[in-house]
Amino acid sequence: MSSPYIEKAEAAILHTYNRYPVVFDHGEGVHLYDVDGKEYLDFGAGIAVQSLGYNHKAYTKALKDQIDKLTHISNLYYTVPMMEAAEKVVKASGMSRVFFTNSGTEAIEGALKVAKKYAYEQDGKADHEIIAMNHSFHGRSLGALSVTGNEHYQAPFKPLLPGVRFADFNDLESVKAQVTEKTCAVILETIQGEGGIYPATEEFLKGVKALCEERDILLILDEIQCGMGRTGYMFAWQEYGVMPDIMTCAKAIGCGVPVGAFVLGEKAARGSLKPGDHGTTYGGNPFVCAAVSKVFDLYEEEHILEHVLRVGDYLTGRLNELVQKYEFLKERRGKGMIQGLEVTGRPVGEIVNHALENGLVLMTAGNNVLRFVPPLVITEEDVDCMLEKLQKSF
Ligand SMILES: *Cc1c(COP(=O)(O)O)cnc(C)c1O
Repeated sequence: MSSPYIEKAEAAILHTYNRYPVVFDHGEGVHLYDVDGKEYLDFGAGIAVQSLGYNHKAYTKALKDQIDKLTHISNLYYTVPMMEAAEKVVKASGMSRVFFTNSGTEAIEGALKVAKKYAYEQDGKADHEIIAMNHSFHGRSLGALSVTGNEHYQAPFKPLLPGVRFADFNDLESVKAQVTEKTCAVILETIQGEGGIYPATEEFLKGVKALCEERDILLILDEIQCGMGRTGYMFAWQEYGVMPDIMTCAKAIGCGVPVGAFVLGEKAARGSLKPGDHGTTYGGNPFVCAAVSKVFDLYEEEHILEHVLRVGDYLTGRLNELVQKYEFLKERRGKGMIQGLEVTGRPVGEIVNHALENGLVLMTAGNNVLRFVPPLVITEEDVDCMLEKLQKSF
């Protein structure tokens, strides 16, 4: 039944994705159902978005209630959901100000603009440089692509933003080697996601923070994938005790509605963007902000962080067992519910295809990593069930 939909979709949609041959219809909790009614256990969460699981009743009610009231009014006015969502982001992060965007990519764009404007305010010059990491991923717009350390993604679109220098993740000396008097920001993911699930070491993150403070460089931490509770901390940097000057969020912050944010510490909030410097028509409209606001409430009510720490430990242990058991699994990386298994000698795409046939939704990262970013509400039983389906797929 699904094949006519696939054919029609392929006839009308620009072919920028090699999609898996499945047509999803609806979801319930940690399960997805395709148009043929087949059930799938979901360990992808729509790329680390659906933290609360599918069709969460309190969440969908909040959205429906807001639709009946007001979905959009622009940033020329105040709304209560905007105020509430902003307050909750500020409280959860301990940071100072938030700007809501429509995507992660736009949050990155905003963060880069904040850093450039901050440096401009300091020295009046417009020649500032940004240090980014090899194997990073920050998005596909020209600005975000400029700081994405992936030659394959960048090549056709050059010239990109000038003044971006690349260093190696978890190699402090390589970052220091790229610092000049023009450097205005260092941008990195607290845990590299698309690049293959590489958590920053504590030494590296603290070292970069100290370097940034010493040279009055802004530290941008991209928490788009690893944030919002995925590590058992609301934001992954909180475990390290390294607060960035600018944080970017998206993915799970809205649990399924298109919303992102860049969040500024006191210094960046005070010394950068002013009225007229940045804007968005949709960004932070009452509909998406009602979602953000409800997401923060539900994380608290359902003790999501404690749950992730507990079940994440279980997932870690079980994945470690797999690495022991299978020769072709090289290592496990990650924390909590953002985990990767590095595979050698066989294509990960094939394993993911078999998993799909066996009713398990998995994703890849890099070119040889199986990625596990399930809804944060999975239980130990779901982990066991996943492992059964996964091993069948090997
Ligand atoms: C997904 C992602 C982005 C881009 O977010 P979009 O919402 O797809 O624009 C940026 N950074 C990281 C770390 C991501 O995982």
